[in-house]
Formats: sequence, C-alpha cells, structure tokens
Amino acid sequence: MPELPDVELYVEHIARRTRGQPLTGVRFASPFLLRTVTPAVKDLLNRKVVAVSRMAKRIVIELEAHHYIVIHLMISGRFRWGDPGAKIPGKLGMAAFDFPNGSLLFTEASTQKRAQLHFFVGKDSYRTLDPGGIEPLTATPKSFFEALTRESHTLKRSMTDPTILSGIGNAYSDEILFEAQMSPIKLTKTLTPDEARTLLTATKKILTWWRDKLISESDAFPEKVTAFREEMTVHGRFGKPCRRCGDPVQHIVYASNEANYCARCQTEGRLLADRSLSRLLGKDFPRSLEELELRKASARAVVEDRADAVVVPKAPRPSAKKRASSVARKRTPST
Ligand SMILES: [Zn+2]
Repeated sequence: MPELPDVELYVEHIARRTRGQPLTGVRFASPFLLRTVTPAVKDLLNRKVVAVSRMAKRIVIELEAHHYIVIHLMISGRFRWGDPGAKIPGKLGMAAFDFPNGSLLFTEASTQKRAQLHFFVGKDSYRTLDPGGIEPLTATPKSFFEALTRESHTLKRSMTDPTILSGIGNAYSDEILFEAQMSPIKLTKTLTPDEARTLLTATKKILTWWRDKLISESDAFPEKVTAFREEMTVHGRFGKPCRRCGDPVQHIVYASNEANYCARCQTEGRLLADRSLSRLLGKDFPRSLEELELRKASARAVVEDRADAVVVPKAPRPSAKKRASSVARKRTPST
C-alpha cells in the first residue's frame, strides 16, 4: 500500500502537471470506484486545479470553489500520466481525469477493487474522511507520545493505525522501528517520553529521507510505486544480512501483515513468535538467533516429538525444556 513518501511522490507529480489546469473530463471504466453521489461530475468540469495535497494516505485534488477529488489507492491502486485523452488501460484501468496537457489515469491491479474515489464540495468537506491520526512530520514529542500511549498496543500495530498516526503502513513502520532500534512488539504503554522522542526522530528522518529521495530521483511521472524498495534496511529483506550488524533479518507474519526486524539491533537478540515457525518448533520456541540455528537442525525431530503442539508460545516451559533435545539444555535459562 502506498504510504506517506509514495503518496507525497504522487502529490508532487500530479501537482506539477495539473496545477492551474482545468479539468476537462472524467471517464470511468469501473462503476464501483466512485463512492459519492454529489457533486456530479459535471459540477467539477472546467474548474482549475488549485492545489494537490495528501490527507493520511489519500490524495486530494482541490478544484476551484472548494470542489475536491479525493482518492485512496488502498493496496494496489496506482496512477499513470498519459497524453491528452489517453485510453484507459484495459484490465487495470479504473478512471481517467482529463486535462488539456494530459490525462491522469487511475489503475488498480488487484481483482478485489478496493480503491476509493470521492467527490466533495464545500470548504474542507473532504475532511470527514480523515481517520484522525496525527501527522508524523509535524508532530511534536508531546503529541506523538500522547497519541501512541492513548491505548496499549504493540508499536508495530500503533504506528500503522491510521487513527493514531497518519500515512504509515507495513513498509515504513519496519524501517522506522529499525532506525529507532526498537522492537515491533514493544508495548506502547511501556514507552517513556524519551523513547517516544527517539521514535519520533526516527519517524521524521525515515519518512523525510524517503520522500525527498523519491521526489528528487526523477522528473518522469512515477510508474513504479511499490511497497518494497531496494535501499530499504529490513522491510522485504527477510533472511538477508542486516545492514548494521550482518545478522539475518527476521520476520513475523500475521494475517496479511508482516514485521521485519533485526533481532540483534532491535530485540536484544530475542526472536519474536512467528505462527508458522512456532508451529514447526512446537512449544519450545527459540529465544535467540544462535538457538534458532541449532533448532533448525533438529526441527524435524522436534516436530515428530510434538505433533500435537499448540502454536505461539510466549516462553519455553520447564517441562518442554526437559523433553527437548540436548540442544535445548545448552540454552542459558532466561528469566
Ligand atoms: Zn542488525
């Protein structure tokens, strides 16, 4: 899903091409895209673009007299820029917004059409769609700390919750937590004001660096907006060496999300419970990288020994330790 740096990249390029231009047409390939009944398309036509901005993960195109086009790309919505009147791409095409100098084409690669388009009229009327999270780039240490600690969740969950923090998803939360050297499953209620400050500094640094890098990279309209980028440190790099310490990057997979992290840099060497991994290893979940490597070697035996094991243990139990192979007995007991 496009996150703050990616959305800002689109905002920049759409603004460069459309600001001051009148909207001359809107074409739809999918009837499901538009979620509002009023204002009608004809009410938007021939109004010039005043500004293009970001609200959370949405793109807001403001037309004259407070008319707004608001788009949420969800997971696989993307933009292209074509010649004036360019054909809407076959399978993926959803809509086209026509301007005298070109057409903004809106596509969605997934068969599950989730992207959303809304039209609004009235000053700031589109703000009803704002999920309410604070803006990370303008947050103060105080507002950031208050937002994160209002409810108790893991940092990974809270950072990607749009009602808490705006514009951050799976990819950049991994990068930010790595930069801050914090565990993705640290609970926000244990966060001190100093730690929150460190996390906010990392948040601003990562998001600003990526936004500026993406915008300065090319003058061409961005065609390759992806959740994974080559220079990322941990996101999408499971099993590859950590760029800071060289240990393999770990991940936890849950539902359709995942957290990528370096155990040595972020969790004091502790591995976090992964459902698939813990199912394989049974209750005797390894607590360190060294142990994981040893466990992998004896995983087959462990599985045979505990075919009916329950998943996702929080810590090894003494009884499980006794039953495990000699490998387990070498472990330094952790308390
Ligand atoms: Zn590391």
